[in-house]
Amino acid sequence: MRKVESAARIREIIAAARDAGQTIGFVPTMGALHRGHMALIERAKQQTDIVVASVFVNPTQFNNPKDLELYPRTPEKDAALLEAHGCDIAFFPSVAEMYPEGSKNPTVSLGSLATVMEGQFRPGHFDGVVQIVSRFFEIVQPDKAFFGLKDFQQVAVIKEMVRQLGFGVEIVPCPTLREPSGLAMSSRNMRLSDEQKQEALHIYRTLSRASEEAKSHSPAEVKASAIAYFNQSDMKLEYFSIVDPTTLQDLNGTWVEGATACIAAFCGEVRLIDNMQL
Ligand code: AMP
Repeated sequence: MRKVESAARIREIIAAARDAGQTIGFVPTMGALHRGHMALIERAKQQTDIVVASVFVNPTQFNNPKDLELYPRTPEKDAALLEAHGCDIAFFPSVAEMYPEGSKNPTVSLGSLATVMEGQFRPGHFDGVVQIVSRFFEIVQPDKAFFGLKDFQQVAVIKEMVRQLGFGVEIVPCPTLREPSGLAMSSRNMRLSDEQKQEALHIYRTLSRASEEAKSHSPAEVKASAIAYFNQSDMKLEYFSIVDPTTLQDLNGTWVEGATACIAAFCGEVRLIDNMQL
């Protein structure tokens, strides 16, 4: 595995790979890597010749400075994990490398995709996501990019960004990996105590229960019941929404194919998100 810090060097390596007729798969991450990330690497390896993973905690997508400061960082362990899973190129850029002076932001109108759920509670978050992912796409020029459905709204936003900016990148959504307990794997779980990990399981239980209730109840009934059930825990709920998978708008009255329950909550100081197709 090659570990690279410079965008110019990545461009050179990619150009040579392309000249040799190889396809490029890209997995963007913020590091503190776990098995969920490795599943993306493995899928990229199955589908493309050269796998590039980036590790970059992107400041522009954090609306809360404390959250940015406390975001876990384990670069040595990340590099070792990537290498062990057959990643070809690990890109660890600096902030200056990703945001050179005078660089411009892409113009993407995300509309209501970016104002609901995460967008409502983390204003500006998706502008930061679009800014960084479009920059990575320009540098890496992947044929396919692999994103986890754990960040369900992010997948919808990235697909819309690709459509509007005309990137020739196929977005490959990948299923959420969970701990045997059901807790969705997340870098933020590192900040949870064992007791909090037990408490956080209530998120998974709420989603599983909603999935069961969806068989015989309306979206509004499932939502009301899920919120009441969730609130039996000590966690603080930010939102529980049942949305259309394409528009991300709350379901109004009837079920649609792919209806998905999305949840965000604080377990102590740690903000967790999860979702489940109902
Ligand atoms: P992050 O480092 O949290 O920004 O995540 C980088 C990529 O890994 C994103 O596409 C995430 O959706 C994906 N990811 C994070 N957690 C999981 C998980 N538990 N299962 C599958 N993919 C995940």
